[in-house]
Amino acid sequence: MSGIITNDSVYQTDALIAEDIDAYLDVHQHKTMLRFITCGSVDDGKSTLIGRLLYDSKMIFEDQLAALEADSKRVGTQGQEIDFALLVDGLAAEREQGITIDVAYRFFATEKRKFIVADTPGHEQYTRNMVTGASTADLAVILIDARKGILTQTRRHSYLAHLIGIRNIVLAVNKMDLVDYDQAVFDKIVADYTEFANSIGITAFTPMPISGFKGDNITGPSENTPWYTGPALIEHLETVEVNSAVDADKPFRMPVQWVNRPNLDFRGFSGLIATGTVKPGDAIRVLPSGKTSTVSRIVTMDGDLDQAVAGQSVTLCFADEIDCSRGDVIALADNPPQAADQFEATIVWMADEEMLPSRSYWLKIGTQMVTATIQQPKYQVNVNTMEHLAAKTLDLNAIGVANLSTDKQIVFEPYAQNRTLGGFILIDKISNATVAAGMLHFSLRRAQNVHWQATDVSREFHAGLKNQKPAVLWFTGLSGAGKSTIANLVEKKLARMNRHTFLLDGDNVRHGLNKDLGFTDADRVENIRRVGEVAKLMTDAGLIVITAFISPFRSERDMVRQMMQPGEFIEVHIDTPLADAEARDVKGLYKKARSGELKNFTGIDSPYETPLDPEIRVDTVAMTAEEAADAIVARLIP
Ligand code: ADP
Repeated sequence: MSGIITNDSVYQTDALIAEDIDAYLDVHQHKTMLRFITCGSVDDGKSTLIGRLLYDSKMIFEDQLAALEADSKRVGTQGQEIDFALLVDGLAAEREQGITIDVAYRFFATEKRKFIVADTPGHEQYTRNMVTGASTADLAVILIDARKGILTQTRRHSYLAHLIGIRNIVLAVNKMDLVDYDQAVFDKIVADYTEFANSIGITAFTPMPISGFKGDNITGPSENTPWYTGPALIEHLETVEVNSAVDADKPFRMPVQWVNRPNLDFRGFSGLIATGTVKPGDAIRVLPSGKTSTVSRIVTMDGDLDQAVAGQSVTLCFADEIDCSRGDVIALADNPPQAADQFEATIVWMADEEMLPSRSYWLKIGTQMVTATIQQPKYQVNVNTMEHLAAKTLDLNAIGVANLSTDKQIVFEPYAQNRTLGGFILIDKISNATVAAGMLHFSLRRAQNVHWQATDVSREFHAGLKNQKPAVLWFTGLSGAGKSTIANLVEKKLARMNRHTFLLDGDNVRHGLNKDLGFTDADRVENIRRVGEVAKLMTDAGLIVITAFISPFRSERDMVRQMMQPGEFIEVHIDTPLADAEARDVKGLYKKARSGELKNFTGIDSPYETPLDPEIRVDTVAMTAEEAADAIVARLIP
């Protein structure tokens, strides 16, 4: 029977290893690799199934075996000799020892293919782990206990697998031995699943009646299910089309990882081909610039190639000297992807801290890294019922759909067409932690229709008329620290020196522009974003802007800093200990906050993130307001 591992073929493999290790390694190296995930809980028999796959394929990689030995201390024999029950115990023990919180990757191989199986924990609180494991997978095995049928978690796992773009789904109806291999049980589950699958857009899947424990329909057809004529699990895993084969048929795209220029005679662009094929002589276009040229060479460590396909890492040389750098995308000249800076996307939130609309995060897509801000979600998805719920933000493991905008155009394709150019992660700018994974749906049409209008009277002209250099003096500190008092003095002193200034005060702005905002973290972020934009317009008008806002978060202060021209943003930390600010309590607010009458008060029940490296730090305990103002003016106008 083709495609089935019999004991004979395993024996032949062993013989080949013994006889000619080089030939064996060569065969092994050129096998295709299938990545898949298994979804289901321990009770569904996941460990048993994985144990069965490893056991029946008889080719557990050495490091895998070593890890198992170290963990269980009981699986002490050679790969070929492992006792099945002990192997499963070892896997289960590994799980219990806390691996449940992570994705465990296991390797095995058969005559035809190499496999990486990502074993992801099943509970809802591990949604992020499942998404991580699934993001590179070609296939998902959705495990069902034949006695229980479709469960909430079956729906959740199927939804996530489909969302993440896995197009090969195996519905493994397990524990068939416990229902007497009854075809009616299997057919009912398949019918139920078909109805559900269609409702979420899964158009095809491969159902299989199996027993991980007894080994039915794992390596070959089982005598216990004569009514089943489909493939056995390993047979299917060995023959199903892998993503790289599908990707090879798509238009050519390669994100540039680095520019390879060892000397003046050689200039190549290195990267991993995301989709398509490329040959010398092909007309290409570099995006987002749109510059075109022709591929002159495809260089690899093993010499030049006549052709390269999706999944290969290569260095491309062009016939012309055109600009191309890290983050650019090289594509077919007559069929390039788009570039845009506003999108709709699905976002899977993976951090303990909730998503803050308007906060800026790093967005990494392919080799491009830009700054992105997310709007309030349009809705959140209940992953158990697929219902759409209203949401203001996204918490850990939440999945939602939102619009987002980036500070630069990014070259992209919808995730459904291209995982590399449509899949992204969001990174917190302060902690550098990955906080979300996302999938771009499409660019917003307004992104194409709203263009920056070039005006004739430039910001330099505005500043020149006023005979000054624009700047933003960004005061930050606790309530009652002295921001307004000192900012007011600074503005008076500058006005006396004939400087054109404008003071933006927190309380005043909240009466007008920002009167729709409160004091939740999300509103504070939006408050500062708007003030930043206003301050930026004022510097364009040539003004020296002074702002007096608590601005408690580093992230937003840094965001405003990035919005300004280099050197124009001057962070002034009005550094007053909480005890002193509270003792002053000019507006009686601390008293209200302490009594619980006022919620979300900075320093009491809302955090203040002290500036790490402000341009100016004012100690109001050691200095009077007058002295502080003089010091600030002296720093601005030496
Ligand atoms: P903020 O704008 O930071 O909320 P305010 O300027 O409204 O703070 O209030 C600060 C209070 O502290 C004022 O009443 C001010 O007179 C008093 N104060 C005492 N010492 C100082 C100092 N060295 N610098 C600034 N303000 C001071």
